[in-house]
Amino acid sequence: MSIDALIADLTPILGPEGVLTGEQLASRQSGVWASQEIKASVIFRPSSTKELSQTLKSCNLFGQQVVVHGGLTGLVSGALTRSDDVVISTERLNQIEKISVDDRTMRLQAGVRLESAQVAAKKRGLMLPLDLGARGSCTLGGNAATNAGGHQVIRYGMMRESILGLEVVLADGTIIDSMNSMLKNNAGYDLKHLFIGSEGTLGIISRLILRLRPESLSQETALLACTDFSHVIALLNRFDRSLGGTLTAFEVMWKNFYQLVANSTPPLADKFPFYILMEALGNDPEVDRERFIRVISQAEEAGELADAVIVKSGAERDRLWQLRDGVDKIVDLGPSKVFDVSLPLSEMDQYVIEVKQRLKSALPKSLCFVFGHVGDGNLHLVCVPNQEELKAFREVEKAVYNPLANLRGSISGEHGIGLEKKDWLSISRTNDEIQLMRLLKTSLDPQGILNSGRIFD
Ligand code: FAD
Repeated sequence: MSIDALIADLTPILGPEGVLTGEQLASRQSGVWASQEIKASVIFRPSSTKELSQTLKSCNLFGQQVVVHGGLTGLVSGALTRSDDVVISTERLNQIEKISVDDRTMRLQAGVRLESAQVAAKKRGLMLPLDLGARGSCTLGGNAATNAGGHQVIRYGMMRESILGLEVVLADGTIIDSMNSMLKNNAGYDLKHLFIGSEGTLGIISRLILRLRPESLSQETALLACTDFSHVIALLNRFDRSLGGTLTAFEVMWKNFYQLVANSTPPLADKFPFYILMEALGNDPEVDRERFIRVISQAEEAGELADAVIVKSGAERDRLWQLRDGVDKIVDLGPSKVFDVSLPLSEMDQYVIEVKQRLKSALPKSLCFVFGHVGDGNLHLVCVPNQEELKAFREVEKAVYNPLANLRGSISGEHGIGLEKKDWLSISRTNDEIQLMRLLKTSLDPQGILNSGRIFD
């Protein structure tokens, strides 16, 4: 059956607002980067779970391949389209339905943007403990589908830990209402976990119930410089131990990343090998500040710190976080590849040295920037090959992924697999695990219409 017949079938259900074709697609992309142009010829935009269910049911009947679009900030090309795909976008599923202060929960539709949910929680004296650089564009549905990580994982865990309940629409249109709002519920399988991190391959997330926390009353932030990676590890342990459980972010930038993002006016001299952006959230401003300063002084006395700046204002804090989130400065350098690996902290320094050596011998003119959520054992490497070396991208992947095999590291700490990393999945998952994933996929989506080709073929 043709896509035209599917459009004719769904237009009366979704209305003109819910079906975009032709010229209406001119300004649309399949991802945040300009190169990710949209190739699909139609975008369906359901505005309710019922409409989403009817849309999927029709697509399934027509055997039509579907690609799900949230905020399009994913970094593994999971939302890329081909000309024979249709897109289902969650952009009209954008309502925050309820915030319960007593239960500390938020119920919302999947297309709500992360930043809108953060702001809404804050207005009620609560906090949604998920934060990442793409907060202004990414959606909660996309965050759940990718099990997003971000800056606060060390304290609050990944997106999975903030989800109490989900509503999901399966490929055949069946609505699975798993909208639990309790912390404890062991009544059989906890099905939400099947869909969290499944990258839209098992169902489309339509609504969520999120767990909120009390808004913190103090926020202490510092930028630290170190001369040795052993000091980075020592500092992480020290802060975890001595800050009374308030350590919330521990982000590390290697020297050349810091030099690039800090530009001409670095808050600390740009000569040190490692920079740490650390943050503690607490509830007793005076006590928290005094302890924060004391613990940093102790680290200095122990010789673990080469230099430090403790933030005194919100503007200073924003500036430091802008440095850490300044990945677009790398993208401006030319075609690049973003990696997102996980490995034991004790292996991290040696791993980075090895990757850089491998890259140097395979692609001598390439650049490699390293930073990441080191407190979570999660590193990002962004490799920028020289123009002449562009065709050797595969060599870059080998340099980054092959050393992980022996370390039992992960080829994806938080971004997922998408279309980009599936060739390397066997480094981090056993054959039996991959077979079981395939079994789940064929059970829930027998025709393979939903985000097919993502994670594995
Ligand atoms: P999209 O990009 O639209 O989709 C991502 C995948 O999920 C696709 O496969 C899509 O088909 C699927 N999908 C989307 N919505 C749904 C749904 N409702 N149901 C089922 N499947 C769906 N990620 C981190 O984890 N940590 C970070 O610190 C981080 N920082 C970032 C910083 C920047 C500047 C950028 C650009 C990205 C960053 N990311 C980070 C990656 C990205 O923001 C996350 O992966 C985010 O969770 C994607 O959400 P989205 O709504 O943009 O999803």
